[in-house]
Amino acid sequence: MEELLERLLAECRPYAEQGQVAQYIPELAKGDPLSLGIYMIGCDGKHSWAGDCRKPFTIQSVVKPVLLLQALLDNGVEAVQSRVGVEATGKPFDAINAVDQPLSSGNLNPMVNMGAIVMCSLIHGDSYGERFERLLALTRRLAGNEEIGVDEDVYRSEKSHGSKNRALAYLLKSYGLLEGGVEEVLDCYFRACSIRVDCRDLANIGAALSNRGRLPVSNQRVFPSHLARYVNAVLMTCGMYNGSGEFAVRVGIPAKSGVAGGIMGVVPTRMGIGIYAPALDGKGNSLAGIQLLERLSRELYLSIF
Ligand code: GLN
Repeated sequence: MEELLERLLAECRPYAEQGQVAQYIPELAKGDPLSLGIYMIGCDGKHSWAGDCRKPFTIQSVVKPVLLLQALLDNGVEAVQSRVGVEATGKPFDAINAVDQPLSSGNLNPMVNMGAIVMCSLIHGDSYGERFERLLALTRRLAGNEEIGVDEDVYRSEKSHGSKNRALAYLLKSYGLLEGGVEEVLDCYFRACSIRVDCRDLANIGAALSNRGRLPVSNQRVFPSHLARYVNAVLMTCGMYNGSGEFAVRVGIPAKSGVAGGIMGVVPTRMGIGIYAPALDGKGNSLAGIQLLERLSRELYLSIF
């Protein structure tokens, strides 16, 4: 397996030069566009890796499936779905409106920013500090890594360059779709995006989702299997934003991208995959990362279709 991964990495490296590291959060612009790493964890517990797979980066939007899980665990499916729908938006992650329809709960999606901001408000806790700590604890548990923390520089950078997310949150508030203090919920969202991970962490989170809520090896259950089905379905239809359709055709697995260059892949019943390649395509998805997943999917017959 390692040989295959090394070969695919060599094939995909040139693509990194065609992408661009995210610029709109100044701290992210420091990412090395030529980094490329992959880590895979099978439901049987087998690990395989290659390249820059232990280089730390911020989780960014890959936290959205974890946020969704925490919201579902705290409130149940019905309550969450009544506040944030599940229809694909076909729009970029920071789109002002989820679809060309009225701004309403049913038109929000948990994998884009507006939906994710509402999900922060759904996490249980007496304060936003407590809500964030609970989200962080779930992230650590799923990743099997107690060392996971927040990248304070990225957090400050996100917060001071977060006008678009602020606009989205205030719009939600004005439509009555967001309860509580806007700045507090935004702070929780910015912190969530700034959680520092590596490819192994993402592979572990993906493995729990592929293993229907159980951690591989220990077989400990972290969440019920119907929630894995829920999250994976939403990942499949909206995890790569307005690139989700093409990704379904080219790769064919539930996945989530983040603007720092991470991708978490879920191959149901088989494996979780973590990828890092910070140069992005025009839709904000890792360019070399998708190339790598496409080749891997072809070699190992990963597509669920
Ligand atoms: N923190 C980023 C933002 O909200 C996350 C977006 C992403 O990863 N696509 O702008």
